[in-house]
Amino acid sequence: MRGPMICAPLRIEHAAISGGLRGAQVIRTGMGAGFACSPRPILVAGVGGALTNQCLPGDLVVATEVRATDTTVASPSAPLLAGALRRAGLPVHLGPITSTARIVAGSARGALGATGALAVDMESAQLASAAGGAPFAALRAIVDTPEHPLLHLGTAVRGVQALRSLRAAAPAMQQWVDAIGPREVLLAGPRSFCAGVDRAIDTVGRALDRHGAPVYVRRQIVHNAHVVADLQRRGAVFVTELDEVPRGARVVLAAHGVSPAVHEQARSRELVLVDATCPLVAKVHHEVRRYADLGNTVFLIGHAEHEEVVGTAGEAPGHVQVVADAEQAARVQPADPDRVAYVMQTTLAHEDAEQTASVLRERFPAMTAPRSDDICYATTNRQHAVQQVAARSELVLVLGSANSSNSRRLAEVAEREHCTAHLVEDAGEVDLRWLAGVRKVGITAGASAPPHLVDDLVHCLSGLGPLTVAEHTVTTEDVRFALPRDSTLPRDSTQPKEAS
Ligand code: SF4
Repeated sequence: MRGPMICAPLRIEHAAISGGLRGAQVIRTGMGAGFACSPRPILVAGVGGALTNQCLPGDLVVATEVRATDTTVASPSAPLLAGALRRAGLPVHLGPITSTARIVAGSARGALGATGALAVDMESAQLASAAGGAPFAALRAIVDTPEHPLLHLGTAVRGVQALRSLRAAAPAMQQWVDAIGPREVLLAGPRSFCAGVDRAIDTVGRALDRHGAPVYVRRQIVHNAHVVADLQRRGAVFVTELDEVPRGARVVLAAHGVSPAVHEQARSRELVLVDATCPLVAKVHHEVRRYADLGNTVFLIGHAEHEEVVGTAGEAPGHVQVVADAEQAARVQPADPDRVAYVMQTTLAHEDAEQTASVLRERFPAMTAPRSDDICYATTNRQHAVQQVAARSELVLVLGSANSSNSRRLAEVAEREHCTAHLVEDAGEVDLRWLAGVRKVGITAGASAPPHLVDDLVHCLSGLGPLTVAEHTVTTEDVRFALPRDSTLPRDSTQPKEAS
């Protein structure tokens, strides 16, 4: 593959971009079709016209694909380039760009806008073909819009605005150029949704299907922004506390579980409660109740501020002490050192949790332990898989939200293998600079992250050069949990929830 180049059709565009670059080659191609070169990665950048008034003068449009009468060329790396521009503080739109042979105005412009394209130019489609299947990206800074067409008052000012944006975009273009190259992707398996998350999302979906919107959900049903946004689009209303829910309405409790006080509040407000607490979290609640009923102080190893821990600790407020780490484990003081037990948050890193538990075991030899580790099968499997993938990668990308405990732990486990790791919400958060010179990328996703985010990221990386993708699966999972029933009644406080 020949080296990448940036193409700027006009002299003023070339000057604006060159001023902000460091090292990348910029070629002036001239206006319109006619430029030819041997196949190579191409990023075309210049000014353009918006086909929608949502794009303002000075805004940038990054092409997801470029279209001409007889051809359409996709640009899979567009979200990565758009992400780099957003991080630079620039206003960016992602969508199709159409190339035409001449300047369009009036009804012709309206007709192009109706196709869903965001911007129009005169070169991108032809330069996309010149790339010959190598990576391609197109970026246009808006001068004119349907409301403010060319050759009207203010065009010169808008032109200067667009050229300033182009210049400010140059460092992101440089990042795109630097990230071009062949790559291997190693996918950790298992990854993405676990049985508890599947069940919680299905619970909200089923409530919406059966009863219609709105269905209220206390807190994020699972810790993932994409899942929440998707359910919001379908009619779910997320609340922080139950007093925001109208009396008598239907409300789903999130997978992380809640304290008995929340159930009590639901009952007092006559809410129709659907409890989507993961059965494996409910099992830990049951353990806490059992140990506390026997008069034990219960050490809950976990992060005090995490919703799961708040809910679990609420089962026996006078008996539970949350222990964050080994250091805290060395200081805790139970009422009676001979009557102690411990449990764990389900999504901890195995190594950290074991260190903390071993300090407690050493200090309190009579301590009761759960029959098996509370860290759930999904957390265990995903950590094991990412550990192996990290050992074979230069960089690990973990898809998941920043407030997802199990996703954060995956990045930490990868880092322990001396591999650079980043937790990202989606492909748009991947910084192109992380990819410069990196040829082996491991990818995984937290238990709350939808699988399509992994597919999207792999697709984006395929737009930066030849990509080989391999699965590294450490085990397969066939765990399923039955969906919960609607209930207006408080749960039976003595029974754990059933897992099937
Ligand atoms: S990560 Fe584990 S505890 Fe949490 S929802 Fe999934 S299976 Fe349940």
